[in-house]
Order: sequence, then structure tokens, then C-alpha cells
Amino acid sequence: MKVYADNAATRKMRPAAIDTMLKTTEEYYGNPSSLHSMGQRAKEVLEDARQSIANLLGANANEIYFTSGGSEADNQAIYSAVHAPKNKGKKHIVSTAFEHHAVLHPLEKLEKEGYEITLLDVGEKGLVTAEQVAKAIRPDTCLVTVMYANNEIGTIQPIAEIGEVCREKGVLFHTDAVQAVGHLPIDLSKMKVDYLSLSAHKFGGPRGIGALYARRGAYVATFVEGGAQERNKRAGTENLPAIAAMAVALDEAVKNMKSANTKISAMRDRLIDGLKKIPHCALNGDQTKRLSGNVSFCFEGIEGESLLLWLDEAGICASSGSACTSGSLDPSHVLLAIGRVHDVAHGSLRLTLSEDNTDEEVDYMLEKIPEVVAYLRGISPVWRDLVNGKRQYIL
Ligand SMILES: *Cc1c(COP(=O)(O)O)cnc(C)c1O
Repeated sequence: MKVYADNAATRKMRPAAIDTMLKTTEEYYGNPSSLHSMGQRAKEVLEDARQSIANLLGANANEIYFTSGGSEADNQAIYSAVHAPKNKGKKHIVSTAFEHHAVLHPLEKLEKEGYEITLLDVGEKGLVTAEQVAKAIRPDTCLVTVMYANNEIGTIQPIAEIGEVCREKGVLFHTDAVQAVGHLPIDLSKMKVDYLSLSAHKFGGPRGIGALYARRGAYVATFVEGGAQERNKRAGTENLPAIAAMAVALDEAVKNMKSANTKISAMRDRLIDGLKKIPHCALNGDQTKRLSGNVSFCFEGIEGESLLLWLDEAGICASSGSACTSGSLDPSHVLLAIGRVHDVAHGSLRLTLSEDNTDEEVDYMLEKIPEVVAYLRGISPVWRDLVNGKRQYIL
């Protein structure tokens, strides 16, 4: 059996999005900036996609800027906020310890340039509160950036409440909603969010395309120079097939959200309940305030990398954290942020489901994962020390 359980890394494209991508490539090959009819037809497709995405998020079309994906949107949001004229002289930023690197790395760079960064503690459940944000805001705070849902442990943050706090204090608020858009209901006409990042490949659209939402009036810094596209904020001929496909994917994701989440969360809960029976393991992140498709565990006494390779051998595609940190030997900053010690953080497993997964696949994972964990513990010197009492169990 082949099981794809890495949907938070990227998701299989929806057939309707593939169809749209092909059709747009074939039929609307004009450049949207060209004045002739072919160009103007392409321009219409572009603006229809923008309007559709805006409608699905409760935004206005002129608040949507297309980008190359979530990482670029995160970068652009952060640089826009810190360079906003109203923030002149303000050099303090509030964020959390478990943001995606597309947020953390720009913040580290700004820190070197003299900004002060406060990273809020996310506690052992992987949640921040609006009160924490309120306490951290200072007169010189120019930006609060808190992710909507965490990509490794799936926990969902109180973005509406945090937005209220930021608006009340007059501070710009960005949320990396890459794991949330298409998975959770989002209405930007009600939420006090100034910037939001999204990425198509996390909800069944193509890779390499995303968007930045910037509330009307919120400053947007030009990120790529060289042309008037995206209202002068991002030069370059638009990736029209990908943009049109993203709009179709989001439409489908939003329309099917309720039924998909019901199906997916039932599979998630069955996986969590089953895997919890493995001795000396722990679920990462709050059990209820989490994405419908996220299962994240730490197993004591084993290496996550070996677990992944053995599961792959059994046909199960999983992840040990985020795809971005795999390949490095450092334990995940997210797991360290929720208080897992290094040894335990190394034994992590993330399974992320979509509506393409089935109950049979869940059964198969519940059969294989305990087997592989037991096998790896059997050959692990760390586990032997734990069993012999030479080392203390942590979980
Ligand atoms: C995937 C992801 C990103 C990066 O998006 P890309 O489109 O791959 O650049 C940013 N933030 C979060 C939370 C993500 O899950």
C-alpha cells in the first residue's frame, strides 16, 4: 500500500486546478500587460482570479498581490510593515518562537540591522494568547507577526483576538496563514488583520504561486523592481496559469471545507488514539486546537530520520517535522519551542492528512507505525539504556 501523509509539506493538485492550468496555458497565452485583444483576455483571467480569491477571503480584489508563494508573501509582508511610513523610528517586532523560517529568517536579518525582536513563548501546547501579545507590545512596536496555524504541530492561534489587540494598540499585524487558508474559515472583512500570506500548493493548487493580502491603506513595499505588474509592487510577467489554478483550487477547498474537515479530523483522531498506545510517546501540540489533518508525535529512544526511512520502505510518506528542516540534523525549532528536549525532539513523526486519504490507509498506518517504532527501539542503544535504567525516561 502507498500512503501519502505529508500534505502539510505539499498537497496533490486538485484535478480541477490541473485542468485550469492546462487550459489557461493553451488558451490565454497573451501577456496581461499587452494592449491587444489576446493580452486583454489574459488580463481578464488574471483579474477574475484576483476577484475570486478576494471574495473567498472576505477581501477586496485590490488588496490581493500575487507572489511566488508563501515564503515570498511572508518576506514582503514583514518588509512592508517595517518600512511603512507610519512606523518610522519604531524598531521592535513581536512574533513567536515557532514561526516558519520564512518569517524567522527575515526577523533575524532585521535583528542584525538593529531591530529588537520579542519571540513569544508558545508553551507546551503550542499556543499563544492575545494577552501575551498585548503585554509584549511597546510604544516602539512596528509589527506583530503570528502564524495562523503551525505547519509542524498544527496548532491554531487566536488570530481574531490578536488582531483586536493590535488594532487597539495601533500596531500592524501580519499572519502567516499558509497552513490555514483553504482549511479554516477566514473572513478578512471581520478580522483585524493587516497582512496575510497564503500559498496555493498547500490547498491543492500549484507550487510557486501564492498571494499577499494587504489591507487597503496598509503600506506595501515594492519587492521586485522592473515593471508595473501587481500595481507596481511586484514586477514580472504574471504566472497566469498558476494564478488561475490557485483561484480554482481555493474555490474548491473553501466549498468543500466543512465536509473535508469532518472526514479528515475523524481519521486524525483515530490515528492519534491509536498511536498514543505506543509506550513512551507524546502528542505534540494541543489536541483540540489543531488542524483537522495534523498528527505529530515524539517517540522516545528512536531517531525520526530512521523512522521515516523505514516507513517509506513500508510505503508511508511522512515527515519528521517540516520539509524545510529535514536534511539538517538540528532538531526542529518548533518542537524545542514547546519544550521537547533534544533527544525527544529527534524522535518526531508528523503525519498530515487530506481528503484523499482513506480509512484503510489509517488502518495500515496504525499497523505499521507501532511495528517500526518497536523494531527501531529494539536496535537502539538509547532505548537499551532506558530499559536498563541507565537513563531516565522523559516521556
Ligand atoms: C509551506 C509554508 C510556507 C512557505 O510557503 P511556500 O509557498 O512553500 O514558499 C510558509 N509558511 C508556512 C506556515 C508553511 O507551511
